[in-house]
Amino acid sequence: MKLNDLPTFDTAALRAKDAAHHLHPFTDTRSLNAAGARVIVRGEGVRIWDSEGQEIIDGMSGLWCVNLGYGRQDLVDAATHQMQVLPYYNAFFKTTTAPAAELSALLSEIAPPGFEHVFFTNSGSEGNDTVIRLVRRYWDLQGQPQRKILISRHNAYHGSTMAAASLGGMSGMHEQGDLPIPGITHIDQPYQLQHGKPGESEHDFGLRAAGWLEAKILELGADQVAAFIGEPVQGAGGVIIPPASYWPEIQRICDKYGILLVSDEVICGFGRLGHWFGCQHPHINTRPDLITFAKGVTSGYLPLGGVLVGERIARALIEQGGDFNHGFTYSGHPTCCAVAIANVQALRSEGVVQRVATDTAPYLARQFATLADHPLAGDAQSLGMVAGLVLYKDKAARTLFDADLGVGYRCRDNCFKNGVVMRAVEERMIIAPPLVMTHDEIDLMIARIRRSLDDTLAGLR
Ligand code: PLP
Repeated sequence: MKLNDLPTFDTAALRAKDAAHHLHPFTDTRSLNAAGARVIVRGEGVRIWDSEGQEIIDGMSGLWCVNLGYGRQDLVDAATHQMQVLPYYNAFFKTTTAPAAELSALLSEIAPPGFEHVFFTNSGSEGNDTVIRLVRRYWDLQGQPQRKILISRHNAYHGSTMAAASLGGMSGMHEQGDLPIPGITHIDQPYQLQHGKPGESEHDFGLRAAGWLEAKILELGADQVAAFIGEPVQGAGGVIIPPASYWPEIQRICDKYGILLVSDEVICGFGRLGHWFGCQHPHINTRPDLITFAKGVTSGYLPLGGVLVGERIARALIEQGGDFNHGFTYSGHPTCCAVAIANVQALRSEGVVQRVATDTAPYLARQFATLADHPLAGDAQSLGMVAGLVLYKDKAARTLFDADLGVGYRCRDNCFKNGVVMRAVEERMIIAPPLVMTHDEIDLMIARIRRSLDDTLAGLR
């Protein structure tokens, strides 16, 4: 559908209905309603349009998910066909569907070696709830039922259900929900700006940050600890790219104490880091036991998530486990699975993942790094197709703005005004653009970000 073919939208009426009836996620409803929500009406490639006709480069791929970009007819066709043939059937009654079976097999082809099984959910949050169930079931089956504790990181994001929000380390979420639930504890994140020591090298910081896991295991008693979970690159926490020394050391510690390693790849999976899964990137290089996925598996066209289950857990479940008392009405939803198959096939046949590794991500890295010469910006870094920079009050002295000034939110609003979506997380400004972005589109996105930094600086004077 061409932009001109779209019906006209009554923006004021839509805003009024939204304000009257729609409670938005992670939003201060009162201030949203005072401003009025922006109504997004169309997407094509790496761009979205609002109801007033503004064109915006989607630097966040929706919410880290539209990996293939908008307007893909092949994904629409896959959904349409499956809806006509069999829109829904469950996987509870000793039944399966063609798309669920085919996608399971396809995922085991693209997953790291040793991942032959998948458990489907509707979202990343449910995926991480499933992780907790799988991990505890595994240790029960090993005759070690006391191994219950999962260790995660402060400022991690693992989802919004009670269990996933507990696994996450967002203090604002914990405060509002009496979280975490029992059996989940946190260590600090590998964010050198916050936790580094003066003069400490990145390498040494990475090893010291990984050491916090070992200290926590020893504090709790290794025989009490079931698993460690982490995002290869913390996304919602502000695109915190750990030093290269961090993850191999985490792997070594998990191996030493026999603790399961869970890689939450809800953002980093499906090519975002230039590999099918983030744990395969040489900067990360881990051998997880479980991999949580969602988002990019369907490029966000329909909701689907799940857990890739590594060999030792799958074997225990299948050979000793009997019934696994867990599942969702829509586990393996055939229409969502059909879209995921079309999405994975397109990522593969069009060489998108490979191109991210060899061309798109290195180009983004070079262009994004140039933003660090802006007086407001520093530490402009990326890995694959995620990138973040820090807004500095005084770059030389590395001092940050007072949080009350809301400089990040001002910058985010300027970005929208200038036609690019960029997200603010405290002192950090972050992007995760569609994997299919061209060099010209990257150039335009960076130019719009630079203009927004200029406007933010001008607004502070
Ligand atoms: N895990 C990570 C790393 C995420 O970034 C997210 C969502 O942003 C989730 C889990 C939760 O996924 P969902 O919103 O699909 O429940």
